[in-house]
Amino acid sequence: MATGSSPRWVYDRDDHGKRIHVPNPATMNSVRAMFELYLKPGQSIESVAAKMREIGLTTRNGRPIPESHVHKILLNPFYIGINRFNGQEYPGAQTPIVRREVWEAVQDKLHGKRPKKQVRHNVSLKGVVTCATCGSQVSWQLQKGRYYGACQRRDERCKNRKYKYIREDVVQEAVKQELERLLCPSQSILEWVVESMQSDVEKAADNRAEVEQNTKARIERIKSMDEALYDDKLAGVITQERYETKHESFMGEIKTLELAMASFDSTVTERKRRGIYMLELSQRAAKYYDEKDDDEKRQILIELFENIMFKNDAVSV
Ligand SMILES: [Zn+2]
Repeated sequence: MATGSSPRWVYDRDDHGKRIHVPNPATMNSVRAMFELYLKPGQSIESVAAKMREIGLTTRNGRPIPESHVHKILLNPFYIGINRFNGQEYPGAQTPIVRREVWEAVQDKLHGKRPKKQVRHNVSLKGVVTCATCGSQVSWQLQKGRYYGACQRRDERCKNRKYKYIREDVVQEAVKQELERLLCPSQSILEWVVESMQSDVEKAADNRAEVEQNTKARIERIKSMDEALYDDKLAGVITQERYETKHESFMGEIKTLELAMASFDSTVTERKRRGIYMLELSQRAAKYYDEKDDDEKRQILIELFENIMFKNDAVSV
């Protein structure tokens, strides 16, 4: 695989010979890999270049790719769709092949900035616990390896509360106990409930399909009546005034029928479907909560617990 530090080896001219760059699949992946790899802890320009030589990446002259090439590539905003020329930046026509967040994180690392606070590592309780005193969200801070939640509101009542902080594991314990309560003791009862809810949904859906079809047919009939009316007007069979009155009333009927069709979607069926989903989610969550990662836990908390309250030194779920 031949390469240089110039973007030209990553992009080919497009099929029509236009002066526009389209990514070359062979080299594009190597460039992406350089950016991703460089961000990993312990990686440097040297180690990335070594890795690239190991996988056989060469310059256009067939020499093993030097560190200086890797460095230039990592610095170039060309890969996020920006052309730099005489110190100015211009939007380019090329397809970006590196995500902007990735490119920016690489620039930070190249310039010796400390990595931004990991957005990925979300405390699972973020945004799901409410201060019982003022109703605002409890925010979480890492201290000595543990997350502590507190209400940041400058409200006197919140500032002066006896228990300012709540530990994450206290909340998690309360959540787990609640999940255990949700766990249905009998698998067969659970299956029966889900099945009967499911069949209700299906019946409702069948019924809905029929009503929907009838409604559509009516709309079509009105439309063809409206067309005939228009022909009559053109042929001078009816007056303009008569046409307008009749046409308006047809349009009104269609509007009403269309509104009715839209409302079919969002009624009982959706609520039942949601019910089944919640039931199944609660069962899975109760069994496997501990094995979930922070993001998944947070999703479960948002879906299943409407209100986790931080009150005194405890939480209510
Ligand atoms: Zn508060």
